[in-house]
Amino acid sequence: MRTMMRRALATVVMAVCLASTAMADNADWSQPTKPFRVVGNIYYVGTKGLSAYLITSGREAILLDGTLKSTASLVEGNIAVLGFKLSDVKIIVTSHAHFDHVAGVAQIKRDSGAKLYAIAADRWALENGLHDGETTYKRGTFPPVKVDHVLADGDVVTLGDVSMKATLTPGHTPGCTTWSTSVTEAGRALKVVFPCSVTVAGNKLFGNRRYPGIVADFEVSFDRLAGMKADVVLPAHPEFADILGRAGRRDAGEKDAFVDPGLLSQIVEKSRAAFKKEVARQKARQ
Ligand code: ZN
Repeated sequence: MRTMMRRALATVVMAVCLASTAMADNADWSQPTKPFRVVGNIYYVGTKGLSAYLITSGREAILLDGTLKSTASLVEGNIAVLGFKLSDVKIIVTSHAHFDHVAGVAQIKRDSGAKLYAIAADRWALENGLHDGETTYKRGTFPPVKVDHVLADGDVVTLGDVSMKATLTPGHTPGCTTWSTSVTEAGRALKVVFPCSVTVAGNKLFGNRRYPGIVADFEVSFDRLAGMKADVVLPAHPEFADILGRAGRRDAGEKDAFVDPGLLSQIVEKSRAAFKKEVARQKARQ
């Protein structure tokens, strides 16, 4: 009985940590939503609860994240609704190697013929289909996927006139990658940041044999993210920045609904506070 309760509790903790600070309903992860243009040449092609972004250069595109294995076809369908062929996706990049963001990548890579680019520290997880490091919950597996181009911190991926910079923001996973680019929206240049998740998400912060430097990594990542300038913030979990709500407001006439220069620091400071609490909680349990 106690084991069952503990298991049930672990599931709840994992779901909450992975999804959002705001108790997101995981059912949203599998719910379809219409694709839409966000700003400039960036389109939302994910589900209601999991982001996938298409960054286009003419007829070609980079895809950021693939959502779940069961929703890969929804992402592919959304790309088609926007008028692109799957084979127009030339490059796939990922925020981090967790099943809710990359389980769909294997299928989309196969169907599109795109090449996968990823930071070295997430390569093992991507190619083994498993979270790298010890956790307090049962780790979700996903279809392994081969990394075609291994990136280092600060590398820039380019496709036509699009450049996406990879900034290593580790902790949530060892290779957690924050992508950034610039777009032009109504004649104005905007800096766009796709921040990697900085929630603890069930990671073991102390005595983590596969990832002993995890606490220091999180701290570096908070500082790195806090130092980034972002006019538009596009996270891996859309509710972190109310992406769908902003799309609705923009469609209702609020032109700058996606422009929010204070948002990244708000997310970072909220996450940093939650992290400090979790450090104290796990330390007390040692
Ligand atoms: Zn994650």
